[in-house]
Amino acid sequence: MSSTVVASEPAWAIPGYLETRGGHLNINGVDALSLAREYDTPLFVFSAPRIRSNIERLKEAARAVEHPMKFCYASKANSNMAVLRTVREAGIDLEVNSGGELFKALRAGFRPEQIIFNGTSKTPAEIEEAVRAGIYSINVDSIYEIELIEEAAKRLGVRARIALRLVPEIGTRSHLGLQTALLTSKFGISSLEVLDAFRRSLRHPDLIDLCGIHIHVGSQTPDVEPFAAAFKTMWEHLVTIHRETGHTLEHINLGGGIPVNYLRDRSMANELPEHERDMLGAELEPSEVLRAALRAARDAARDAEAVHLLERVTILLEPGRSVIADAGLVLTTVRNLKRRPETDDTWLLTDAGYNILLSMNNYKWYYHIINASRADAAHDALYKVAGPLCDSGDVYFDIEREGRLPDYRKLPAGVGSGEVLALLNSGAYSLAQMFPYNGRPLPAAVMVHEGGRVELIRRRDTYEDLISNDIW
Ligand SMILES: *Cc1c(COP(=O)(O)O)cnc(C)c1O
Repeated sequence: MSSTVVASEPAWAIPGYLETRGGHLNINGVDALSLAREYDTPLFVFSAPRIRSNIERLKEAARAVEHPMKFCYASKANSNMAVLRTVREAGIDLEVNSGGELFKALRAGFRPEQIIFNGTSKTPAEIEEAVRAGIYSINVDSIYEIELIEEAAKRLGVRARIALRLVPEIGTRSHLGLQTALLTSKFGISSLEVLDAFRRSLRHPDLIDLCGIHIHVGSQTPDVEPFAAAFKTMWEHLVTIHRETGHTLEHINLGGGIPVNYLRDRSMANELPEHERDMLGAELEPSEVLRAALRAARDAARDAEAVHLLERVTILLEPGRSVIADAGLVLTTVRNLKRRPETDDTWLLTDAGYNILLSMNNYKWYYHIINASRADAAHDALYKVAGPLCDSGDVYFDIEREGRLPDYRKLPAGVGSGEVLALLNSGAYSLAQMFPYNGRPLPAAVMVHEGGRVELIRRRDTYEDLISNDIW
């Protein structure tokens, strides 16, 4: 098989992490094809050094703005235990969204004061688990929930730390399904209820320690403005509460949403609608977000007391995607191919379906694909690409013909069965959302470490796993 060789490193390459060697994709020096051979595909591959450098970027942002900060990795993006361990060892804290994620957090060695619990429908049992553990903050989603927390605190004879999650109607340029500060979203306490909620939280100080306010504007937020507007609004609430009650909140939690650039290689960018292109290709430094947020609050601070409060408040961020998305990829093998002379198309059928990359289906999320077997070959031939599921929607393009994904993917000419493809930037909201539809055993995952050490961090399901919970 002959193909043109591109002289320089491809646009998707990241020196020291994603590179081509001997024509193959390498991850921190480890040959992707040897991983596919040893562990089979589909296979999730994560890079511990990349997770660490993503976290280091957050810490640098904190140093740049010289402000007290706390970072809580949003574990829903990927709560594999080895990922959680890597995050913990890199020195940041954790955000969880369920009793199950709280369990995993504690099991992974996070201390209670490192954990934040969010969620719209917490059960009494989950609330009790969080109150008993004594976590940093339970983020309250409604006035009603304050009562539930009080009851749990009373039962257990402890004081629960809470923050109020607000929903101040702030839009972003991300998908509607990923926006969470709109009144049409299910999250949080609306502006007209905020003061009531604060008063309610302060009624039983023996049971409730109101320590913060929270907002999450949504995922993959491409601009600083929504973060700045959100912070300013939270900040104004903090000042109002202080003036009205004398109570000083310790922290403002600005949520997650720092975007990841899914279009470092822009060879398919023109095939995407403009708003998708802008959103998916966003480059936003955490330090810019923090600077804009602090500036907005400072500009709104009316007196010295307000400025003083601002200097003392801890800012929390809950980054998920920006920690793990570009630290992971999926290796998949072409298992079948076909021609359709009527449409002059070549189809590649892979072993990676939307059961392991749900976002590709429900948000039409774009993951750039490269040929890991011939990573340095020119990717200039067009293919229809699809997964293995018995479902017409299991394709790598927009089956609804709304053009949200490119109709074709570019790979080297003459791709054959057995060649390995890589779906880049697929470490977030993928492994965490997978399901064994069609009797497909869930894939294995490996973590690549410095020096090329490879660690199996999730074994592939067996057929027996497929029936392990069924009773018949
Ligand atoms: C999902 C979520 C996050 C993480 O969002 P990313 O876009 O992955 O950074 C943070 N906070 C809350 C409350 C969330 O629901």
